Order: sequence, then C-alpha cells, then structure tokens
Amino acid sequence: MAEIISGPEGIALGVQRLHAGGLVSFPTETVYGLGADALDAAAVERVFRLKGRPSNNPLIVHVSDEGMAGRVVETWSDDASTLAKAFWPGPLTLVLPRLPIVPDVVTGSGPTVAVRCPGHPVALALIEAFGGPIVGPSANPSGYISPTIPEHVRDAFDGEDLIVLDGGHCRAGIESTVLDLSGETPTVLRLGVIGAHRISESLGREIRVAEAQHAPEEARSPGLIGAHYQPRTPARLISGNDLPSAPSSAVLVSWSLETHPSGGVLIRMPEDLGGYAQAIYRALHEADRSAGSTIWIEHPPEPSDPDGRAIAAALHERLRRATHS
Ligand code: AMP
Ligand code: MG
Repeated sequence: MAEIISGPEGIALGVQRLHAGGLVSFPTETVYGLGADALDAAAVERVFRLKGRPSNNPLIVHVSDEGMAGRVVETWSDDASTLAKAFWPGPLTLVLPRLPIVPDVVTGSGPTVAVRCPGHPVALALIEAFGGPIVGPSANPSGYISPTIPEHVRDAFDGEDLIVLDGGHCRAGIESTVLDLSGETPTVLRLGVIGAHRISESLGREIRVAEAQHAPEEARSPGLIGAHYQPRTPARLISGNDLPSAPSSAVLVSWSLETHPSGGVLIRMPEDLGGYAQAIYRALHEADRSAGSTIWIEHPPEPSDPDGRAIAAALHERLRRATHS
C-alpha cells in the first residue's frame, strides 16, 4: 500500500528507507519525485523498474546545496556557481561532467550528470537528513502525466510499498529547466519556468536553446523527445476558436470559457501563466479521471512579458507531447 505521510515522522521514515536502498516519493516545487540514494546503483535500478523508464533516460540528482553538488561533478565551474547562487534552491537543473562515484545507471552511462537543488522545504529536509544526493524523476509511470499532489503518486502506485511525503500542491507545476554546462556554450536542453533570457542575463552572455524535436541528436536522452506527459484518454490541443464546436463527450481544459458549450465537463484554468503551469497536470489528471471520451486542451494564453513567454513556451512543449499520437 502506498501511504501519504506528513511532517517530521515522514522525513525520518524516508531517511530510513533511503539508507535501506528503498524508495520514497517526495515533493519538490516542480512535481513529486521518486527518490532513491543516487550513489546506490541497486536502489536507482528500482526507480527505473517501478516507473518502467527506459534505461538510457538519465536521472536528475537532487542536492541540498552547491557543496553536495561538488561531490558528484568533476568541476563545479564558475558558471555553475553563478547560476546556483542566482536560482537555487529552484527549478534549474545543471548538466556537468560527472565523477566516477556516480553510478552508470543514473547517467545512462554518459559522461555527464544532471544536478539540482529543489526549492521545497520537505525535499531539502529529506536530502539534508539523509546527508547525500537523491535521484528524483517524476513519481509517475514513465510517459504518463507528472504528479503535482501526493494523491497522484499514491493512486499511480497504489499496490506498492511506497511512502509519499506530503508537501501539498507543487508550486511551479512543470519540470525544471535543464541547462547543459558541459560544452563550450551553455545550452538549454529542456524548457521550464526559468527562461533562457534569465539564464543569459545572469551569466552575462548569450546561451543556446536546443531544439530537441527538430534535431533529435541534440536531445541526448529519450526523455526529451516524442510522446510524454500523456493522459490515457486521447487529448488534443485546440485554439479558442474551435471551442464552441466541442461535443459534450469532450472534456474541456480552458482558460477562456466559463461553461462547456454542450454541457459537458469543463476544467477552468487560471489565465496567468504561472498559475496555469501550476494547475495543468492536476487538470489533466482530473480530465483523465472524468468520463469524457476525449480531452480538448485550449492553447494557453500568449503573454507579452519575457517571463510569461518563457513559461508559455515550456507549456507548449509539454502540451505538444501530451497530445502527440
Ligand atoms: P525527469 O526526471 O523525468 O524530469 O527527466 C529528467 C530529464 O533530465 C531527462 O529526461 C533528461 O532529459 C535530462 N537529463 C538528466 N540527466 C541528463 C544528462 N546527464 N544529460 C542530459 N540530460 C539529462
Ligand atoms: Mg518525468
């Protein structure tokens, strides 16, 4: 039985499980993670098995501070330090050459490791109390919608002996920005709430954004291409103009409508992009549980400010893949 536990008791139990090579789901500000001791290959293999995740899709290593990051990377570069000071704890993952102490299973046998310090008090308390780095891919079956409340994790892994630390509804709501610092030019591999413009500003120079979908060789892991974040109910992304033709069997996920035009289920989304990102996976879970035969997702609002545009681009990437057939 998967079980949700709150407070210090949960942290203590979580630490015990991690030391024993077990798994514990923990909240971060992005989504709920499936945690295991990052330096214990057998424990990390359990994460891959439980998620059904392809073994060549590397994991992010979660640390409590820059010092702990220094234990898994070859060199903590000036850029890494600058960005960690600007954005950690927070939704920015940094990819750097790894040290041999990191098991191959974590990195997909590649030469680099992805590290991030999550901005959630429960995640930080767990990592600090454990005293070492923890892997934390999203706590969902591979390819399915990411979890943003503890109940999503419990329901997905109901039959498993798994504890889920309660941290409420994740604040950012979509996965971290992933930035590769292992090459000449810093390169965004996955879009997130922290936009490339803010990373550029902080480093004081231009960076690149990899277009994984157009250049799969740039993806460096299957986690960055193809279908992902998918409800089981077929979903499509539609423009606001098409909403009035929605049949009642289509569940609508919309920020512009107040009622379903044919009397079906409508899940209303916030109009501000931060609120939209926080709400989207929860809305997709809810849509998937309802009796509709399809899910129609209205294109998110198009803001004009740079932070809003960055979130909109990250959302489009998630929604494109959630509706990919
Ligand atoms: P998830 O844990 O499901 O949010 O996925 C983490 C994502 O981070 C993976 O799909 C990869 O795209 C990316 N990632 C993790 N480690 C690396 C790495 N060493 N190099 C490049 N990308 C990575
Ligand atoms: Mg994931």
